[in-house]
Amino acid sequence: MTSSLTIENLYTAYDKADVLEGISLEVPTGQVTCLLGSNGAGKTTTIRSILGLTPPRDGRILFEGQEITGRATHKIISLGIACIPEGRKVFPKLTTEENLRLGAYQESREATIRSRMDEVYEIFPRLAERRQQLAGTMSGGEQAMVSIGRGLMSAPKLLLIDEPSLGLSPLYVKENFNIIKRINERGITVFLVEQNVRQTLAISHRGYVLSKGRVVASGTPTELQQNEEVHAAYFG
Ligand code: ATP
Repeated sequence: MTSSLTIENLYTAYDKADVLEGISLEVPTGQVTCLLGSNGAGKTTTIRSILGLTPPRDGRILFEGQEITGRATHKIISLGIACIPEGRKVFPKLTTEENLRLGAYQESREATIRSRMDEVYEIFPRLAERRQQLAGTMSGGEQAMVSIGRGLMSAPKLLLIDEPSLGLSPLYVKENFNIIKRINERGITVFLVEQNVRQTLAISHRGYVLSKGRVVASGTPTELQQNEEVHAAYFG
């Protein structure tokens, strides 16, 4: 099994206090790996560290075996990593189509952009019906689709997704998780950061549990569900 992303003994701090205190994890190529944890555990900080937005203080991050720790964000992204940020950040005054195009800004061939857009519309037929609608006038669930679609427009090898279920109605949460599963089935490796334990584990191959900046448990979904401490904290 090859590794898409490897994190080794990572420490990240904002000011003086460490938020990540030596985390290590592995994201195998082709799989969905999740990082679970409650508010403030350090999940978003892990994503910011990977992307070079908050460079780690110590430790290493490797993408496909190549060290990327502390590199410039645009260089990290150009290797084939895309991020769908928390809170479905869409450009409200731009149409669906314009939002999607922004995700392919590193691609200049119009035919490639068009074929990626067609693929996004195939995954999200609802977006195809709303190509010319301003994203800011769409429902929360539809904005989530635009945000995921934009992430796919760079044809990433690895997709980082930060709390896709946050603030969505249960119906859209379910739909979103189904879509993440389908995206993974198309061959994209997924690293998913979430608080929604049950539905996340249902689509993950492996998971890690983060608490106060440390990995406190890891394993397959079954192993995590059977772990007594994890069970008490998250399934109780
Ligand atoms: P949430 O689910 O609330 O997003 P999280 O697990 O993603 O939680 P982080 O956003 O990584 O957690 O935050 C971890 C800790 O780092 C928190 O205590 C938070 O207050 C702190 N923190 C986050 N961003 C900053 C920042 N820009 N400056 C200083 N401290 C920060």
